[in-house]
Amino acid sequence: MVIDEILAHNERFAREKTLPIIGHAPRKRMAVVTCMDCRLVQMFEQALGLERGDVLELRTAGATISQPEREGGASDLIRSLAGGIYLLGVREVAVIGHTQCGLAHASPAALTASMQALGVDPQQLIEREGLGNTQGLVNWLGAFDDVHINVREVVESIRNSPYLPKIPVHGLVINIETGKLEMVERGN
Ligand SMILES: [Zn+2]
Repeated sequence: MVIDEILAHNERFAREKTLPIIGHAPRKRMAVVTCMDCRLVQMFEQALGLERGDVLELRTAGATISQPEREGGASDLIRSLAGGIYLLGVREVAVIGHTQCGLAHASPAALTASMQALGVDPQQLIEREGLGNTQGLVNWLGAFDDVHINVREVVESIRNSPYLPKIPVHGLVINIETGKLEMVERGN
């Protein structure tokens, strides 16, 4: 399994490297919300000029908040931002979606087929969780059609959260092929 590869590498890493001791409060006092996409690994920090200790990085599938949680307010993303703001000194937030996101244009048919192939019954889940139909399942996953609209909506959810103070929340989109950032909405 891949975990064995990781453990073997880690053995060498821990033996050969000495990491500088730094604090847990982000130096730039910023939290960045982005996607879990594997193509963002390393490229993301390099494209933004971020070093270890600079910012908090929160990654969710699609850099989004799923529909049921948006309405409830106290999503895991909001909870993490609250921790960053109240306990770690964050005073600025950037939501950064990306082009070609795997959560964009998710097809209900492909989703349910994949679930069935892995032994999960979508219909049973829809009934048990009160999701309504397969589109409700897609909404639960947080899938969206347009990355720009999704970024704006996530920015709005963060700005309007009763759990969070009024601090600048920006919305951007990063090009997954070039690393170029596009400002969608600047906070103030
Ligand atoms: Zn993505």
